[in-house]
Amino acid sequence: EAKGQGKGRQVVFDDRMDQRTAEQSRLTAELRNAVGTDQLYLLYQPIVAMPGGELAGVEALARWTHPSRGPVSPAVFIPAAERTGSIVPVGAWILEQACRQAAHWRATMGDAAPRTVSVNVSARQLREDGFAEEVAAILSRTGLPPAALTVEVTETAVFDGGAALEELKNIAGLGVKIALDDFGTGHSSLGLLRTCPADVLKVDKSFVDDVTADGPQTVVAAALISICDGMRLRAVAEGVETAEQAAKLQQLGYRYAQGYYYARPLPAEDIAGYRPATPDVLSFPARAPK
Ligand code: C2E
Ligand code: MG
Ligand code: MG
Ligand code: MG
Repeated sequence: EAKGQGKGRQVVFDDRMDQRTAEQSRLTAELRNAVGTDQLYLLYQPIVAMPGGELAGVEALARWTHPSRGPVSPAVFIPAAERTGSIVPVGAWILEQACRQAAHWRATMGDAAPRTVSVNVSARQLREDGFAEEVAAILSRTGLPPAALTVEVTETAVFDGGAALEELKNIAGLGVKIALDDFGTGHSSLGLLRTCPADVLKVDKSFVDDVTADGPQTVVAAALISICDGMRLRAVAEGVETAEQAAKLQQLGYRYAQGYYYARPLPAEDIAGYRPATPDVLSFPARAPK
């Protein structure tokens, strides 16, 4: 009897799984069809130098307006696209779009152009055979110098297996910069810094949120900047929302930040017009007295 019930539950569970899988397949099939239409586009969030807030780079962030559902968050459609494999063609389109845009900024903005465009690349893309060759082809088609592209990967994606790490080394071999995204939230962190060809470490927002509280987050944020300095990695603090956080991060030694305090993700055409907010506001209190 009990066994029968358990079995029944199992069937219901499987049905739900099937439904969810079917739902994801439908959604990501629609996502593939959105490529090349105005439903799918990229916003660019400034990565800034502190204390002045000058543009140091931008991160491309995908946006999808579904015809009937309205805006769908990348936190929903990216994981779904990873599971169904749609991220491979969709991600390739995103990469090319971002590189073309960055090349355009370089041609039109000169020295004021963002020095690098960061593009998120998922584990599924990294594991794809020949991904580095595809990156090389995109760079040559768009005319973007390799050093002006930063590929953002999570520790989990690289930790996933040897193939991903090998592909990452191939990409680094092209001269493309590598950033470890959401750093500190995965499960390999410190060991990875020895094996992975990283140039940038993006300190996760979860260490920034309470950085002013002088608690565990502050200790981790301080430890990470010290590691980055020692290993000649550039540290970017993610999700900076307040002047107090910006000031504390600078006091800890951070020089680069990304977050709503400086700028939200912006349409490509707004990047040329990006200006730091009044420097006196931003630099106060840049180095708070101890
Ligand atoms: P991420 O790569 O860590 O990107 C940073 C996320 O934090 C973005 O969310 C950004 O809008 C948000 N953010 C930036 N500053 C702040 C802040 O001050 N406060 C708060 N609360 N949030 C802030 P978004 O655009 O919703 O993207 C979520 C995630 O989806 C990204 O996290 C990335 O993992 C993934 N994603 C987005 N676009 C792409 C893409 O083109 N390809 C891939 N593979 N993943 C992408
Ligand atoms: Mg990112
Ligand atoms: Mg991130
Ligand atoms: Mg994050």
